[in-house]
Amino acid sequence: MTPDKRGQPGGAEVRLENVSFSYGETKLAFDIAFQASRITAVMGPSGSGKSTLLNLVAGFEMPDAGRVLIGGRDVSDMPPSARPVSMVFQENNLFAHLSVEDNVGLGRSPALRLDAADRDAVAEALRHTGLSGKERRLPRELSGGERQRVALARVLVRDRPVLLLDEPFASLGPALREDMLGLVTMVQTERDMTVLFVTHQPEDARRIAQDVVFLDDGRIAAHGDAEGFFTETGPEAFLRYIGRYPADGASRDIARKRT
Ligand code: ADP
Ligand code: MG
Repeated sequence: MTPDKRGQPGGAEVRLENVSFSYGETKLAFDIAFQASRITAVMGPSGSGKSTLLNLVAGFEMPDAGRVLIGGRDVSDMPPSARPVSMVFQENNLFAHLSVEDNVGLGRSPALRLDAADRDAVAEALRHTGLSGKERRLPRELSGGERQRVALARVLVRDRPVLLLDEPFASLGPALREDMLGLVTMVQTERDMTVLFVTHQPEDARRIAQDVVFLDDGRIAAHGDAEGFFTETGPEAFLRYIGRYPADGASRDIARKRT
């Protein structure tokens, strides 16, 4: 989806078609489609390729072979700035020398040439993310949670159909994380975005994701709807990863026998 087609309803499917990628000896291979307008939790052990998967979609990494399609369009040769994607990282999403307002405004215009409509959009996004009154602050004058709110406000004004979240709340405490998950759901619903959300927290996935993809050793080990993943009949490797295999009752019995 090109910027001139922004605002189309229905989000955009994200597809990695026979994509292969390597860092020297480390080989990764992805062949997967993420349905439009759904939240997919991307899970898997450290080093399994979660960030690389997102970076291939964002254009920070280029496939050695295969194609990346967004909304049916081949974006494989497009630089990150031209892709219909927003990305939020665990930290360092903001420019330290720019105010909250300007950091959000960048989502509208990289040169911060903002017209009245842009300024309205920025003010509205700040209101939506609970940042009104903090427009003039610098990132260092905010809490970690507030900084991530600024990043989400920028996602709102950028208004791209795909949102990539790479462990955005990993350094926040549980209560704050809960608030932020609510905010992600709000942003996703409001803009009907296709969201890939990397998290280590099974409860985050259960709370907001419709789908789960489980990566292992640079490959897609399992992919399906979240409900199926968290039952006793979910993918075994995934249940082992979250410490639920053998199924709950059985593991409690085993634990009891051991003590
Ligand atoms: P995850 O996000 O799941 O922890 P990554 O996608 O960051 O995993 O990494 C996947 C694999 O690629 C790992 O084996 C990691 O060591 C390797 N890797 C990641 N980034 C680089 C890099 N810049 N140079 C070399 N190897 C890398
Ligand atoms: Mg990572």
